[in-house]
Amino acid sequence: MEAVVLDGVNKVYEGGIRAVSDFSLEIAHGEFLVLVGPSGCGKSTTLRMIAGLEDITSGTIKIGDRVVNDMPPKDRDIAMVFQNYALYPHMTVYDNMSFGLKLRKYKKTEIDKRVHDAADILGIENLLDRRPKQLSGGQRQRVAVGRAIVRKPKVFLFDEPLSNLDAKMRVQMRVEIGRLHNQLKTTMIYVTHDQSEAMTMGDRIVVMKDGLTQQVAKPVRLYDHPVNKFVAGFIGTPPMNFFDGRIVKNGDELLFESGKFKLPLPPAVAGKVGNYAGKDIILGLRPEDIGSRMVEDDKSVPCIKAVVDVVEPMGSDTFVYMNMEGKPFVARVDSHHLLKVGEQASLGVLTRNIHLFDRDTHESVLRD
Ligand code: ADP
Repeated sequence: MEAVVLDGVNKVYEGGIRAVSDFSLEIAHGEFLVLVGPSGCGKSTTLRMIAGLEDITSGTIKIGDRVVNDMPPKDRDIAMVFQNYALYPHMTVYDNMSFGLKLRKYKKTEIDKRVHDAADILGIENLLDRRPKQLSGGQRQRVAVGRAIVRKPKVFLFDEPLSNLDAKMRVQMRVEIGRLHNQLKTTMIYVTHDQSEAMTMGDRIVVMKDGLTQQVAKPVRLYDHPVNKFVAGFIGTPPMNFFDGRIVKNGDELLFESGKFKLPLPPAVAGKVGNYAGKDIILGLRPEDIGSRMVEDDKSVPCIKAVVDVVEPMGSDTFVYMNMEGKPFVARVDSHHLLKVGEQASLGVLTRNIHLFDRDTHESVLRD
């Protein structure tokens, strides 16, 4: 049985602002689903409609086997964790975590057990007597998660829960939430604008733009087979490089050509773009597919020649910002590959990983 099902869900706010268009998705029981996209794409609205905090303009939402369209939030068997924690400042951690259960008239012994179990899972047993202002950001967020856990909901909803934390704490908390999911095996729906958070946490990811679902897929599939230029550019850091050019025929071969840059297409790619011969196209190259260690010693590999602008050593590898006839792009090379600012470099391209997008529709032309 699916945990949550959205069927043709639309949201138009007062004043005609269309926030979510025709959203349909089945979220499996126990799944960790991430909604990701730039600010304003409709992620929070979608989550808030599932929570019941926002009316649905049209469509159906089911939680378990019940249609919840008109059901108030408190009856939906969900628990939500917000970005701003929403803790009561005058209450202790224990009281913050137990408050919802008290309202629902749970027995004192049951409340006590649930609070201690949740505190144990989150490693906050020693903080139960403190008040929120005596806690760090990460600790506060753990309390907010704890308050959701004690409810034992059917579905957890997270709305950008880590945005207020510093970078290091964010990484730590995302590991902890992943661990929590493994432990509780409860369905979780998680909203973030941060693609690296989405990639590391999601069993499946929904990429949204302007209220529309762009692609729903597992993280690796999204990275390797983005369906359009938007998804390709949104997922991955540094982002994918795009080059405007065209497909040209050279004997039996097809090439991508952009100024002096000519890239022979491998047979598997060429087989899919025959009807683009002579036409404009957009090439997508991930930074790690330029100057990759896998191809650098192979003289038969096609190269991209460009001038080195900026070298950014990251430790295990180095980001090299380059310029090819006025067109900037970035390569991610092995740190031992020494390149100097101002030099003309020639870097191999791993052509089997290239992406090609239609110039008008921006759809991938390599879709299966
Ligand atoms: P995200 O979570 O992806 O940043 P939101 O779901 O918050 O996006 O917003 C989607 C769109 O709906 C945006 O254009 C936003 O301005 C608009 N919007 C959000 N909340 C309201 C509201 N209460 N009234 C009117 N428009 C809203």
